[in-house]
Amino acid sequence: MIYPWMAAQWQQWQQLQSRLGHAYLLSAPSGIGIESFVQQVTQSILCNTNNTCGECSGCHLFLTDQHPDFFHLQVLEDKKEISVDQIRELVYKLNETSHQGGYKVAWVEGPEYLNQSAFNALLKTLEEPSEKTLFILTTHQVGRLPATILSRCQKLMFAAPSIDEAQSWLHQACPQADEALLKRALRLNWGAPIAAQQWIEQGLFEQDNEWKAALKQMQSGQKTVPQLVEKWLKWAQPEQVFDYFYFWSVSAVRAAYYKPGAEYSDDQIQNWLRFQQACLQAKNSWQGNANKQLVLEALCFEWLQIQQSQAPLESVFQTNIVKGKLA
Ligand SMILES: [Zn+2]
Repeated sequence: MIYPWMAAQWQQWQQLQSRLGHAYLLSAPSGIGIESFVQQVTQSILCNTNNTCGECSGCHLFLTDQHPDFFHLQVLEDKKEISVDQIRELVYKLNETSHQGGYKVAWVEGPEYLNQSAFNALLKTLEEPSEKTLFILTTHQVGRLPATILSRCQKLMFAAPSIDEAQSWLHQACPQADEALLKRALRLNWGAPIAAQQWIEQGLFEQDNEWKAALKQMQSGQKTVPQLVEKWLKWAQPEQVFDYFYFWSVSAVRAAYYKPGAEYSDDQIQNWLRFQQACLQAKNSWQGNANKQLVLEALCFEWLQIQQSQAPLESVFQTNIVKGKLA
């Protein structure tokens, strides 16, 4: 499936297909459906008619997850990085002759999660590609990739659609949702339509409400921070708490500036802005090696602090001491 906001890249790809290189890096924000683009691209290569016909044996094998010449590499569940063993196994398979006589396709999802030796192993393979082998690398964090990888791949860049385009697409995808919910879904998911769609379909707005109720309980002392954090950690995607906090502070700042009659001191607004930064950095720590429970708890305490005091927030996430403190 090619989403409308990827139509230009799809066209570009179809032109490339007659003189295919051996490694492509697809850089896209998360939640806009880059995974479906890879599916489509791969099917078009493995299809016996190169036409994603959906009827040939190549298409059939691919669509039923059984194609012997397609390899998908990603961080294994319960692991933090892609290991050198995973790369070695991939290289070994790529060196075998193609089972179906055509291309072999390796999709490396999140190459920024390769550890150092895995990087080196992949680099070596990219330098000496075997014949009729195609590497597709997809990343949401192109800035974290070393220049050595970037220089060996041709790049395709993807962007999230405009708010209007995202909203009208989402409206069709989730006809049961009202306008307010659509807007909220897009906002909390950074304008990414596929993530917003999942957020609605999985009923995560209930989770959002639960989070709002938790703030009140936290502030009134009805529940302690560790109690609430323990609950959030059981969510399918606990890192969404960071986004909720982030957009809470965005709304707070906006209200202070644009709501007539509302009076907030500059100190308070500054603190909300500091807290906004803290949310982004906390999410970064979360995605790194920090202890997840401590990161969430620390952010909650900072939130409580700016509720209770207008003294400048000194966020633990602003400096590199965070590594020592939260690891
Ligand atoms: Zn086909």
